[in-house]
Amino acid sequence: ANYSAVLAENRKLHNEVQELKGNIRVYCRIRPFLRGQKEKQTVVEYIGENGELVVVNPSRQGKEGRRSFKFNTVYSPTATQAQVYSDIQPLIQSALDGFNVCIFAYGQTGSGKTYTMTGPDGASEEDWGVNYRALNDLFRISQMRESTFKYEIKVQMLEIYNEQVRDLLSSDGSQKRLGILSTSQPNGLAVPEASMFPVNGTSDVLDLMDTGLRNRAKGSTAMNERSSRSHSIVTIHVHGKDIKSGSSMHSSLHLVDLAGSERVDRSEVTGDRLKEAQHINKSLSALGDVISALAQKNAHIPYRNSKLTQVLQTSLGGQAKTLMFVQLNPEVASYSETMSTLKFAERVSGVELGAARSSK
Ligand code: ADP
Repeated sequence: ANYSAVLAENRKLHNEVQELKGNIRVYCRIRPFLRGQKEKQTVVEYIGENGELVVVNPSRQGKEGRRSFKFNTVYSPTATQAQVYSDIQPLIQSALDGFNVCIFAYGQTGSGKTYTMTGPDGASEEDWGVNYRALNDLFRISQMRESTFKYEIKVQMLEIYNEQVRDLLSSDGSQKRLGILSTSQPNGLAVPEASMFPVNGTSDVLDLMDTGLRNRAKGSTAMNERSSRSHSIVTIHVHGKDIKSGSSMHSSLHLVDLAGSERVDRSEVTGDRLKEAQHINKSLSALGDVISALAQKNAHIPYRNSKLTQVLQTSLGGQAKTLMFVQLNPEVASYSETMSTLKFAERVSGVELGAARSSK
């Protein structure tokens, strides 16, 4: 089949609406089939070089079952961690130039959010995700600029679970609820009580990430269960001082591994699970609302509707830069979750595209 006409039309539409798009970039990453997984049939029919994606409904034949999307980039399942990082590196680096940056990973549980942000368990340097690479890189560049700029790089790690904010770097892994400051602070700290540590080299990066991951596991006996239902936020605070002029700047880079976006069947879950699902639902829609309100340049941005958007408030909107990794599971069984993930992605990118139409 020839979808190039549909894709060309979509591209044209995208160029027309580019102006309305605000600052969000959407990068779609498709997870490979995992070792030992038998199923090789995928819902991803086509990946173009300019961010085009065609997804096919496994139970509908013909053109009606196909839908095309366009994002800033679509990664095939063979894309490496290094490739992904090199694409976002300029955004990471812009934190050293004074921009606030938020990078999210969105998708259903098992779609590769943690792989993209952190990397697989016990990752070697080659498999490192965005968090390690970003911290290391910022430290490296700050050293290169040493003769003109004096930088201080500090890290906080938070978890939001059931609308409660928890410190992932506290020495005792404390369960204390943390408060969020509502107005923007001169030092940019939205959660001032949370522990914060300086980064002075790769070993600090590894130690901090290790502590964070251990504390995240401590909250529950079933770590994977819990971590898929909480948001984790690594915040890198950058303070810079121009040695010559003495002027100073502060910026924050937030790296967010969101809770799994899968919908939960209300008839099947009760009690704690239902409560968790409702909290996740609420905060992910609040995030979608904030980003699309920003994209539409609305006067009112509804930051107050979730802890997630409150923590990130000063880094969403204004001059801030936002990037979302939209993670897809390629399996046929995930088709409906994949579609709802893609619809969320379209909504936050401020663009609605029609269904792939036949060129009658
Ligand atoms: P999520 O955080 O969305 O729940 P994970 O990151 O834990 O998903 O990914 C689920 C599984 O798939 C893990 O075993 C992970 O190592 C693997 N995985 C995800 N993305 C990739 C990838 N790009 N390449 C190889 N393995 C991947």
